[in-house]
Amino acid sequence: MPKLYIETVGCQMNMLDSELVVASLRQDGYELTATAADADTILFNTCSVRQHAEDKIYSALGRLKNAKRGNPDKVIGVLGCMAQKDQGLIFKRAPYVDFVVGPGQLHQVPALVREARINRGQRMEVSLGRTDGSRHEIERSHESFDPLRDPAMRPTPYQAYVRIMIGCDKFCTYCIVPSVRGPEQSRPPAAILAEARQLAGEGCLEITLLGQTVNSYKYREGDRTWRLSDLLEALHEIEGLRRIKFVTNYPKDMTDDLLAAVRDLPKCSKYLHVPVQSGSNAVLKRMKRGYTIEDYREMLARTYDSIPGVAVTSDFIVGFCGETEADFEQSVELVCGSRFKNSFIFKYSERPGTKGAELYADDVPDDTKRRRNNELLEVQNEICEADNQAFLGREVTVLVEGRSKASEKHGEDGDRMQLTRRTNCDRIVVFEGNRRQIGQFLPIVIYDANAHTLFGEIVTQHVGPEVFSLTLPVKIGLR
Ligand code: SF4
Repeated sequence: MPKLYIETVGCQMNMLDSELVVASLRQDGYELTATAADADTILFNTCSVRQHAEDKIYSALGRLKNAKRGNPDKVIGVLGCMAQKDQGLIFKRAPYVDFVVGPGQLHQVPALVREARINRGQRMEVSLGRTDGSRHEIERSHESFDPLRDPAMRPTPYQAYVRIMIGCDKFCTYCIVPSVRGPEQSRPPAAILAEARQLAGEGCLEITLLGQTVNSYKYREGDRTWRLSDLLEALHEIEGLRRIKFVTNYPKDMTDDLLAAVRDLPKCSKYLHVPVQSGSNAVLKRMKRGYTIEDYREMLARTYDSIPGVAVTSDFIVGFCGETEADFEQSVELVCGSRFKNSFIFKYSERPGTKGAELYADDVPDDTKRRRNNELLEVQNEICEADNQAFLGREVTVLVEGRSKASEKHGEDGDRMQLTRRTNCDRIVVFEGNRRQIGQFLPIVIYDANAHTLFGEIVTQHVGPEVFSLTLPVKIGLR
């Protein structure tokens, strides 16, 4: 059996793409291997959102130079966003790469691997750029890659990502996604529902719907327009599915019908990821986010009012072009006043090809970016810890995903082990349990908490004397 090694960086969309690419290569007889040295075919599914993610891939490619020289039959492919962005530059920097495939052309990967094993020529399959044709032509060149699902390819059989849209039309000035993933295109509801039914039939209990701006989902069908709330209602009917999540939301598209669906549909996780990026209107304007901080606060207030117990998380970019101390303080203020369950904080990384790189100087020194990153994280962590403390003594329900990181690290392999999973509002819980409980929904009572994790115990049924006093006369009566 030929062996495949794949390395994936980036977001959930990339993880899903890798899962599907691996599944399609398994049909050609490939089996996965954990090391590049063992592999006949090596694939990198890349990300372009930050410079660091690209540097990582180029240095991994650099390390393969000698391996390829020693074994010219090894096939090396670069997929994903960096492939779409850098195109021929990848061949220049790593001439031994066999093919470069953008995220809109992933269906070609099996054929390209087959071809690379026979001919030694290089191939590049990428989509059109945003100004390289009519909207229709550009859309057609960015195909959503959603072949039939292979349950063996998911890290856990109980959860799966389901793509509901690709691309983005928002054009935030710092972001490369609209160029590399193309125009916003929603998948037909029938295809999404069929995929979700198949997953549920295979025992999947939780699905996470994916889109760059997932709440902008819109699909016209005759005279009906499907919104995300309509899709959630239809997915909610699928027997076997127990939990539905969706990421990532765009603040301006957080409509009341969607909030009502999350509130009213019991299977919808009470968790929303709604990135704000900055607390300063001046920075938001330069980022071209399309809302003011007042709009964001209004959306947040509406969300908290509409959905009792909802957890909201956010993203921040610190050190964006021209960000002053006063701008940064407004981000700190926003974090203090917003009770985010968590915030993902990133230092601004200039991306060639974006409007941000063209229009503004990346003028915040790196040590200032680092300091702001740490300060904001510290404030957010204090809030996380205080909020998590409020869970002490409370009972939560989790879908048990598998072993905790600590259990994996310590190589626990008996039946008893530390297990982990998230609550309905996406908080991580760890607890002692049994391997057989993986894949079950369990009640857990929380006895400790830090900023990132709740620690709990499985609630067991207590059979006390009152039960005996009730059952005894019945049994006697039966005699
Ligand atoms: S909404 Fe903005 S940040 Fe998000 S993917 Fe689109 S352009 Fe990028």
